[in-house]
Amino acid sequence: MNLARIILPLPVDRPYTYAVPEHFRHLVRVGRRVVVPFGKRKLAGVVVAEGAELDLKGYEAKEIIDVDIELTPMPQEVLKLTQWIAKYYMCSWGEAARAALPPGSAAPTARSRARTVTMVNLSPEAPSSPPTGNRQQAIIEQLKIWDAAEKLPVPQIHVLAECGGTAATLQRLEALGYIEFEVEVVDRSEGIMPAASLKDESIELHKEQTIAIDAITKQLDEGKYGCFLLHGVTGSGKTEVYLRALKHARDSGKTGIVLVPEISLTPQTVRRFRRRFGDDVAVLHSRMSLGERYDAWRGIAVGRYPIVIGPRSAVLAPLKNPGLIIVDEEHEASYKQYDPAPRYHARDVAVVRAMNNGATCILGSATPSLESLTNARDGKYQLLEMPERVPIQGSPATLPKVHIVDLRNEKELNARKENLSKRLVEAIEERIEKGEQAILLLNRRGFSPVMECSSCGWVPECPDCSVSMVYHKPLHHLRCHYCGQTARVPVTCGECKLPTLEFAGTGTQRLEEELQSKIPHIRQLRMDLDTTAGKGSHNTILDQFGKGNADVLLGTQMVAKGLDFDRVTLVGIIHAEAGLMLPDIRAEERAFQLLTQVSGRSGRAERAGEVILQSRQPGHPIIQFAIRHDFAGFAAYALETRVALGYPPAGRLVSITFSGPDDDKTRDLAEKWRACIDSRLPVVDRLGPSPAFVHKLKNRFRHQILLKIPLHVPASHVRTAIEAAGKAIGSLPHSYRLTVDIDPVGIV
Ligand code: ADP
Ligand code: ZN
Ligand code: ZN
Repeated sequence: MNLARIILPLPVDRPYTYAVPEHFRHLVRVGRRVVVPFGKRKLAGVVVAEGAELDLKGYEAKEIIDVDIELTPMPQEVLKLTQWIAKYYMCSWGEAARAALPPGSAAPTARSRARTVTMVNLSPEAPSSPPTGNRQQAIIEQLKIWDAAEKLPVPQIHVLAECGGTAATLQRLEALGYIEFEVEVVDRSEGIMPAASLKDESIELHKEQTIAIDAITKQLDEGKYGCFLLHGVTGSGKTEVYLRALKHARDSGKTGIVLVPEISLTPQTVRRFRRRFGDDVAVLHSRMSLGERYDAWRGIAVGRYPIVIGPRSAVLAPLKNPGLIIVDEEHEASYKQYDPAPRYHARDVAVVRAMNNGATCILGSATPSLESLTNARDGKYQLLEMPERVPIQGSPATLPKVHIVDLRNEKELNARKENLSKRLVEAIEERIEKGEQAILLLNRRGFSPVMECSSCGWVPECPDCSVSMVYHKPLHHLRCHYCGQTARVPVTCGECKLPTLEFAGTGTQRLEEELQSKIPHIRQLRMDLDTTAGKGSHNTILDQFGKGNADVLLGTQMVAKGLDFDRVTLVGIIHAEAGLMLPDIRAEERAFQLLTQVSGRSGRAERAGEVILQSRQPGHPIIQFAIRHDFAGFAAYALETRVALGYPPAGRLVSITFSGPDDDKTRDLAEKWRACIDSRLPVVDRLGPSPAFVHKLKNRFRHQILLKIPLHVPASHVRTAIEAAGKAIGSLPHSYRLTVDIDPVGIV
């Protein structure tokens, strides 16, 4: 009997053995997606070995149920990469491989399979006499008419709709030799990708772009691994560099991957790639249906698209011969996956994949992560710098001027609990008069609209998570942003019972109202989680704004990213210090990045840009660095703290989170692990266990241990110690869970 070893998306680090039924014998190959029974479920896994000689050790193997023949086998190189991911990020190989399969295929449904259509054609060896039945004759007549018009084959449903009859009628005609069936695979992803209107943009590169492209093409031609850090200010022409580099790679027969942080937030960038490369580009994004994504993935695997652009999972796209991998906005936190495993960082996987393939990697950003900056300074990456904006008609474009409004001095504004200073409102009015536009940023982190009791300070919290609930005006309810549950707006305080609840904090909706009341004739567009819930709504909002159908685009972090509108000459930042105080080692870095990115939206074309930055802490070093566009100053300041505390890039972090239904038991479990790890990793500094930032999440209590690992301790050493601790302590009690996050990002 033939057997196959199959990895499954389960947290168990070993392949399972299944029997290959005779009729699948020639289909089952390494890298193939197959469906197998597992307990009562059906799971999709990947074949990692097959053959008659695999040993069963007396165990009776169940049979493979199905083989997905429409999907070409996962390339060996990708399979090996997932094995590396499993090892480095401490998950099972099957979990890592899941990230490299078409999304949604862990438990395959009809929608995550290829869709096929039965087509009908006339048989070339049809009998000369017509069939006997009237219906049968009518069908053959109709097929002949279509044949004359070169319309064959036609879908079966088409035939039945035209001539009547049932599938059985057609099957009889086939049995009699009159017709043939053909199966055609439908590509559902066709037509949903942004329109491609090929345009030859013959831009003349400026000096720094030329230097960058020369270095990159030289590397590509050598065919050896090399990684570049492209540090260019907003509007310096990084995207143009990516486009040229990709063209070079494609023209020399290689394929390329472009990672973007969140595709729905970067429609403009995606359109530029489509314009340049047309149907050579596959666009992957999370708003595609499962079927659409399956088909796009399939198209990539069969080599239909030499270029793939997508969010983090695109780093595992089944492209053959990857020659160039680009990570745009490489500092973005969204490149790190948290749930489910694999908890991988797509930027780091991109570098490894490039290394494995002798490919070139480009990490680009206006505000590189301190990790990548350090790698460049250490000579691991080649640094390419573009410190100036693209010159316009010969004269150098300048970065926008930044003005500060110290909110502590805005007495009237504070008394009225309002958010828009006179200076900002006047600047907006000025733009409206001139027919220009403004973008307003309200950093949601730390400034959500919550209710607060003005007598005792009570804030309504989610009953299942230890976070305050956020007020949503359209539905007039409170919502937990962690678990999604909603609650009615209370009338009296939950603590002191007084009817003194007030709205605290600021939401985008309140800001919109305030602006409307201060400038009644203003035309606004709002972009936040509420207004972008629908498919394509991002695009619609940005389209409207681009057409000039609004004066102001107001929103959360979403408005900070990659937008390029000529008429925008003003950016207003409502609370620049938002997010600075979050308990995250990268809180300051994130705040600096956000301020720099959003400022970069202003004055990108001929007209000069201005930024008005409101803050209660205008003297904060981060805000000062942002005002001066001083990345080097920021990096020196931030690195000093990182080095002093042994945080990345001066050390590596591993976080271990324990969760369970009982607070004390969860903490005890964490304590037990701490002791066990301490004895195995004496050189590793450790924080905790302490309650996680969100202590209670969906009714489960969470405690965290953070390991600070000096750079000289090898990653494998830490892995072994954690695995050994797991063995010594034994399996977790029922409904308790442990999550290991390597190189964690963020604070959840
Ligand atoms: P970045 O990606 O660094 O923000 P972009 O590549 O988007 O910068 O470039 C900003 C703008 O300048 C875009 O509209 C782009 O088409 C244009 N641009 C880029 N390079 C040049 C160039 N060499 N000459 C003229 N315009 C350019
Ligand atoms: Zn109260
Ligand atoms: Zn909740």
